[in-house]
Amino acid sequence: MTASIAEAVEKAGVVGAGGGGFPTHVKATASAEVLLVNGAECEPLLRSDTELLLDHAERVVRGAELMRDSVGAGRAVVALKKKNEAAVDAVERALPAGGVELTLLENVYPAGDEFLLVYDTTGRVVPEGGIPPDVGVVVSNVTTLSQVADAVEGRPVTSRLVTVQGEVTEPATFRVPVGTPIGEVVALTGPPTAADTVVLAGGPMMGRVVEALSEPTTKTDAGLIVLPADHRMVTTRTATDAYVLRIARAACCQCLACTELCPRFLLGHELMPHRTVRAVQYDTLEEDHDHVTSAFLCCECGMCELFACPLEIQPRRILAALKAELARRGIENPHRRTGLTAVGVRDYRQIPSARLVQRLGLSQYDGPAPFDPRKVEPVRVVLRLQQHTGAPARPVVDEGQRVLEGDLVGEIPDGSLGARVHASIDGTVESVSESEVAIVLNQPQAGGATARRGRGGDQSS
Ligand code: SF4
Ligand code: SF4
Repeated sequence: MTASIAEAVEKAGVVGAGGGGFPTHVKATASAEVLLVNGAECEPLLRSDTELLLDHAERVVRGAELMRDSVGAGRAVVALKKKNEAAVDAVERALPAGGVELTLLENVYPAGDEFLLVYDTTGRVVPEGGIPPDVGVVVSNVTTLSQVADAVEGRPVTSRLVTVQGEVTEPATFRVPVGTPIGEVVALTGPPTAADTVVLAGGPMMGRVVEALSEPTTKTDAGLIVLPADHRMVTTRTATDAYVLRIARAACCQCLACTELCPRFLLGHELMPHRTVRAVQYDTLEEDHDHVTSAFLCCECGMCELFACPLEIQPRRILAALKAELARRGIENPHRRTGLTAVGVRDYRQIPSARLVQRLGLSQYDGPAPFDPRKVEPVRVVLRLQQHTGAPARPVVDEGQRVLEGDLVGEIPDGSLGARVHASIDGTVESVSESEVAIVLNQPQAGGATARRGRGGDQSS
């Protein structure tokens, strides 16, 4: 049964839907004592996991049972924020008599970070450079687990819930076929409520700026946040590397706030962003090599630059650039300390999400985005062959070929870490390249993506 669960998950192309995109079939072959179900949804403004739980808690619990059995865990623990009372009630109603438990989290950021979730629910600290299975835990997101339940019933990943929030007339959450143009999803919420807007895909803390509204949604896009182009969440991301370095060199006062609030530092990892910024400031990168390679320990949560730093310096950007450069040079993470304990003051340095939202200038958008059951029907989808960690999928269809929703269009290359990709609509393959497969409806309708009342809310994949 264990092998067949992992095989079904691999066949269905399930990847970490919370943003990581790690192929779930690989996690499903791990060995663990505890399966932790991540329902924290800690990125501000995102609602897709919560909306999924409201209507389909039983699918998530079913997926949790399957994943628990696949990794040989004795327990599955669903972790939800206690403020999401309706979702908590839905999960409580769906829990079986035994084998799956519920635990409640405080409303802090970043409660959904895997390492923090493991610590907050089990008291175990994942070692530096490690992963949760190193301490006997496998973590899976709630959307991922609903897709695991679907996979075992033979349904591949072809759609997911996506929240649209921000400067839109009617914030909502939709079930969206993978590969739908982002602009068409955003348009379903009505006209923008600001003149010059930019879309962030994935959330305001860790998401990316969408370069063009024709970009397709992916399996890992939980939300699309529409913000004014001059909003700080946008301008911090669009600042050039040269500007980021110039500000760090000129302004850092070594106040330590970035380190004192760094969630990974507070967990006991040797990550001190103020020391890395100082190495950049004084050009001592060679001498401070440990604080350069500590970039490998950064989860890029954004706490240091979007909340902690009083001078709008961007330690995360600096650490991310260093990490990329180290990888380019083939340098591996030398930080491997184990047996760690969290910093004693950690409990007093948790940042309430409401305070974070206020500091980010997002309070006016922090409202509900209820599930909208209209069926989203794009006339054309573009399926990226790399929506996951690992190697891009290898295209297995030809131009002009007819496909049905769920047909395989991208296969995992032999011997590689990767994930399969499936057609998300019925149609004809319009184009195939090394990076994507485009599919058009057989009888295109005018007007782009349409939406009609239908069974969009009946599916949970
Ligand atoms: S982004 Fe900043 S706060 Fe978050 S883990 Fe990295 S250094 Fe720490
Ligand atoms: S919080 Fe800002 S000013 Fe303070 S040490 Fe960190 S980067 Fe420098």
